[in-house]
Amino acid sequence: MPAPYLHQQYDAIVIGSGPNGLAAAITVAQSGRSVLVLEGNDAIGGGTRSAELTRPGFIHDVCSTVYPMAVASPFFRSLPLAAHGLEWIEPPVPLVHPLDDGSAVVLDHNVEQTAQNLGPDAERYIRMMAPLVANWPKLESFALGSSRFPSHPIAMARFGLLAMRSASGLARKRFRDTRARALFAGLAAHSILPLEQTASAAVGLVLAITAHQGGWPFVRGGSRSLASALASYLQSLHGEIVTGFTVRSLEELPPAGLILCDLTPRQLVKIARSRLPAGFRRRLERYRYGPGVCKVDWALDGPIPWKAEACHRAGTIHLGGTLEEIAASERAAWAGGTGEKPFIILTQPTLFDPARAPAGKHIAWGYCHVPNGSRVDMAARMEEQIERFAPGFRSRVLARNVIVAAEMERHNPNLVGGDIGGGAVDLRQLFFRPTRKLYRTPARGLYLCSSSTPPGPGVHGMCGYLAACAALRDTA
Ligand SMILES: Cc1cc2nc3c(=O)[nH]c(=O)nc-3n(C[C@H](O)[C@H](O)[C@H](O)COP(=O)(O)OP(=O)(O)OC[C@H]3O[C@@H](n4cnc5c(N)ncnc54)[C@H](O)[C@@H]3O)c2cc1C
Repeated sequence: MPAPYLHQQYDAIVIGSGPNGLAAAITVAQSGRSVLVLEGNDAIGGGTRSAELTRPGFIHDVCSTVYPMAVASPFFRSLPLAAHGLEWIEPPVPLVHPLDDGSAVVLDHNVEQTAQNLGPDAERYIRMMAPLVANWPKLESFALGSSRFPSHPIAMARFGLLAMRSASGLARKRFRDTRARALFAGLAAHSILPLEQTASAAVGLVLAITAHQGGWPFVRGGSRSLASALASYLQSLHGEIVTGFTVRSLEELPPAGLILCDLTPRQLVKIARSRLPAGFRRRLERYRYGPGVCKVDWALDGPIPWKAEACHRAGTIHLGGTLEEIAASERAAWAGGTGEKPFIILTQPTLFDPARAPAGKHIAWGYCHVPNGSRVDMAARMEEQIERFAPGFRSRVLARNVIVAAEMERHNPNLVGGDIGGGAVDLRQLFFRPTRKLYRTPARGLYLCSSSTPPGPGVHGMCGYLAACAALRDTA
């Protein structure tokens, strides 16, 4: 028997319940319209889900864990999420980058404090970062908006001159020493671009600014608590959510004035083929996906035995030594290879939220970039890298769960070939994401609202919010 919601009429249907899908649904519901969210997975949240991936009692995040962009998000900040159960946990320092000499570079909340451990580059770091941090309120609408036309041209020009450079070019020009260069390379590698590529510095700068602004927090209880808070608020506005319903064609949906798709272009083409003109379909088919990730979740018998004491105070650790080593690892992922020393982004939430594992035990995840669709299991090489900075790590592993890039799509169809960014964020796709029409399509009432639209990847809900605003404006 068809499900009852298939017989109802809604003002809007949102396909996918990732942070952007939920943000889009909330924006529609706040305008007083009826909205239904259809989610293919049995659990809501997309990139904000948690599960016992290794052993009972160990609550791992299936995807995201660290939320600089969520606390920076003007839309999330406007929502009463604390009243719906959301609690942020901010580790004492956002990020630590250990080095082979046993020391570590600490990205502190404070610019001057960070500079203190950058040796000869201390002044240079302050000179570069302090004005950017002070100007963040003016830059925010660029970094977290859809407008590519700056409302504060002078602040934007200062940022743009740095951001449009390659990460390795900027680090080499600005800094003299390995420590500051390594720190910046690790931050910029979150862009999943080769560090020699134009504009690969942008993400590094934005992530450093967010560390000095709102911080890099976790969500108490795991990322699913963020999805639950968003869903709870949506339901308080009478929005409905149905899970376990994969939309295979728009034709199977109940009538709705608006359809907002928390999907990447490839999936949109599949489900909306007959509604999209051939030219637009071709443009979506030309959309480029970036490298994938290989992710490992660990259940641990104790905290990671870092050599550098500072690592015990950070939520996020970057493992890759020098700028040169990180750049080589990122280049390899684009060139179709996998290096022996992958650059790893690692999180260790139970140091600050112990209830996510049995007493005295811990969880951690790490991922490295690999070619799109790669089937290579990087776990052994990743553990070797961790051992380099934390001897004895392997002996603490109770269980591990590995997801290779090619398998990512099975868990969430938006992770095409393991690409966690919803498509490459190169210069072209930074400005025209996924096409010049951004959220809009030529089909009346049909919109994209995922991280394949501006402002792009990360958990901030701004793609969903801005797509819904565009849709509501079009139908006003
Ligand atoms: C391993 C990993 C680690 C990450 N770490 C971080 C981090 O620490 N911090 C951070 O900010 N970001 C991180 N990210 C990125 C972040 O998760 C994404 O940028 C974000 O989730 C994108 O949100 P979205 O709503 O656009 O899409 P998603 O969160 O991917 O949600 C899309 C939803 O749509 C559903 N769906 C897809 N197709 C259909 C269909 N046909 N019918 C019905 N439902 C469908 C999917 O099941 C999914 O629930 C990480 C991602 C991964 C994979």
